[in-house]
Amino acid sequence: MLLIPQEITAGSHVWVEDQELAWVDGVVTSVNGNEAEVETINGNQVTTKLSKLYPKDMEAPDTGVDDMTKLSYLHEPAVLHNLAIRYGIKEIYTYCGNILIAINPFQAISHLYDTKLMDSYKGAQLGDRSPHVFAITDVAYRAMNNEGKSNSILVSGESGAGKTETTKMIMRYLAYLGGHAAAEARTVERKVLESNPVLEAFGNAKTVRNNNSSRFGKFVEIQFDARGQISGAAIRTYLLEKSRVCQISEPERNYHCFYLLCAAPPKEIEKYKLGDPKSFHYLNKSSCYELVGVDDSHDYLATKKAMDIVGISVGEQDAIFRIVAAILHLGNIAFALEGEDSSVLEDDKAKFHLQVAAELLMCDLEALETALCKRNMVTPEEVIKRSLDPLGAAISRDGLAKTIYARLFDWLVKKINVSIGQDPDSKCLIGVLDIYGFESFKTSSFEQFCINFTNEKLQQHFNQHVFKMEQSVYQEEEIDWSYIDFVDNQDVLDLIEKKPGGIISLLDETCMFPKSTHETFAQKLYQTFKDHKRFVKPKLARTEFTIVHYAGEVQYQCDQFLDKNKDYIVPEHQELLSTSKCSFIASLFPSLNAETPKSGKFSSIGSRFKLQLQQLMDILNSTEPHYIRCIKPNSDLRPEIFENGVLEAIRVKCEGYPTNRIFSEFLERFSILAPEVLKENVEENVACKSIMEKVGLSNYQIGKTKIFLRAGQMAELDGRKAKLL
Ligand code: ADP
Ligand code: MG
Repeated sequence: MLLIPQEITAGSHVWVEDQELAWVDGVVTSVNGNEAEVETINGNQVTTKLSKLYPKDMEAPDTGVDDMTKLSYLHEPAVLHNLAIRYGIKEIYTYCGNILIAINPFQAISHLYDTKLMDSYKGAQLGDRSPHVFAITDVAYRAMNNEGKSNSILVSGESGAGKTETTKMIMRYLAYLGGHAAAEARTVERKVLESNPVLEAFGNAKTVRNNNSSRFGKFVEIQFDARGQISGAAIRTYLLEKSRVCQISEPERNYHCFYLLCAAPPKEIEKYKLGDPKSFHYLNKSSCYELVGVDDSHDYLATKKAMDIVGISVGEQDAIFRIVAAILHLGNIAFALEGEDSSVLEDDKAKFHLQVAAELLMCDLEALETALCKRNMVTPEEVIKRSLDPLGAAISRDGLAKTIYARLFDWLVKKINVSIGQDPDSKCLIGVLDIYGFESFKTSSFEQFCINFTNEKLQQHFNQHVFKMEQSVYQEEEIDWSYIDFVDNQDVLDLIEKKPGGIISLLDETCMFPKSTHETFAQKLYQTFKDHKRFVKPKLARTEFTIVHYAGEVQYQCDQFLDKNKDYIVPEHQELLSTSKCSFIASLFPSLNAETPKSGKFSSIGSRFKLQLQQLMDILNSTEPHYIRCIKPNSDLRPEIFENGVLEAIRVKCEGYPTNRIFSEFLERFSILAPEVLKENVEENVACKSIMEKVGLSNYQIGKTKIFLRAGQMAELDGRKAKLL
């Protein structure tokens, strides 16, 4: 990860890379040119390049340190070793300066979040108590109250790392700090907290990585009044994964709400004509129906209770679940070929589900069938109804299901916001961001492109923040930092979002041009970015492209980019649902007016997402940020190569002075290298300087109370010391 100038000789204690353990420690037995022999503690002899070895700090405490910046060597094996030690003693939180690292324990740790613990963190300084999500939240809350400035807490990490659980703890602690004493005033914070189970029921699903994976990004803005009490909140969501409604694969599940509803009490099952989830096409593409430790029928009632609390009426709840059921029935409408290229309902079963779907959606049965199987062709003279083939009809059906679901989800978010209410007088807020981490799959498509774009944006914000924090330490100590380079990812961001000329712009242009295909889009990309450092055309690729993201390379498949970028509702579907007899459903499809984009006309999801993201960044930039990095451990705590924010933070630190020591500590550790300096009775800072000069190290800095070392210098000093002993 880092190039560390190092003094490694026979007898040095080092970390060496290991297939299984990621890193294993050992002792160098001999050095030969730029290669070394290492005997590892598990008894292996390893020959490796010197540049692949990292010095091990022999003075590091056995129980680890609660703040990474206390480590003498800030490199990957040292960091992971420290986290592993702490994880072993069930300390899931560790600081890296003022960044909190949280390792998912995958089990409830008793008393880790109870009220007594909340009490103990209230008002405590960061570092007074052991690292905790409450401590970071408390700092944010106090900073907001004391300085009258908005704060934000950004939670990141790969899928399953614990972001959403962490976010909920932050919200709970904020509700505790900013809660109201009087029971009747407590509705605001209750609504804020109960919005979580509602959104999770409709926006979370089991994936390969996480049984309760959020399939949308979320930014919750909690508003406070002048007394520091919660006075309102706003929830913004980003890019719900629509495709999941119709497309799941083993061993994943569709959105929780479908299974909850199938486990509803008999009266509801009868009303919505439901049955075994196995009988529904949208659910049975995967054989996973139940989740270990989850009781869907219990959760159905719990979700309804949460809906009550956030202010969703009984009538609205009925309409919502009617829509959920209708989507399941829609999915079971199968088509068969008729004539050469037309389609008809496949069988009686399909007819039954069509009928139920029409009843539940409260629209005309024939109109629904026509909307699914036929398209209007508008010619100057007349409108002709053209038949779709069975595949076309199925695509039409799935498109309808996805659109309805997406609008339902947006409605829920809007409703919750209205119900919690915004405080127009609030001067301060705390924003909490829970957003998807970097993704790279075998097939990465438009969704991954947007997600990774988000992460590039947040990474830039993070780098700038960490760099600023570093600078403020340097400033405090009055040291010169002007020549430290700051590595930025602006070039990737330009590649993606520059207007005109970035990938999103090119995609929009392609979408608007009638004859485009994903092939012409790919060609356009290849031409435009052939010399771009961050863009690669993979060998032999015809419709794939690779972006060199800050976290690594991701190869994207173009084939669905055009379709997925089009926020398009088929005019026939729009017409059908806007005339539903159910006012709730009709309201999800307001008939065309000047404000809503004309149905059938292109509206870019990519550009809208970019705008949303810019608005988010504007908010974040106006706040004081705090970072929590969640890590998903595996048996050996090997980090995923992707989204390793912790190491990234360290990389930024290492560009400056990753290690600093108070003069006296430094002297205690290293005066042995120049024992004469202690006798000279000089000032501590002068003594430190003498030691560094004697050892021949430069580029370090002497501050007011501390000495600042470049990456690797501490190791060099220890190496010299070891030779003396
Ligand atoms: P993410 O949002 O990053 O994808 P989640 O927050 O949903 O991940 O966490 C995944 C699962 O890990 C949770 O469902 C829960 O079982 C477990 N988990 C996460 N954080 C904690 C925690 N602090 N304590 C106990 N279990 C946790
Ligand atoms: Mg999540």
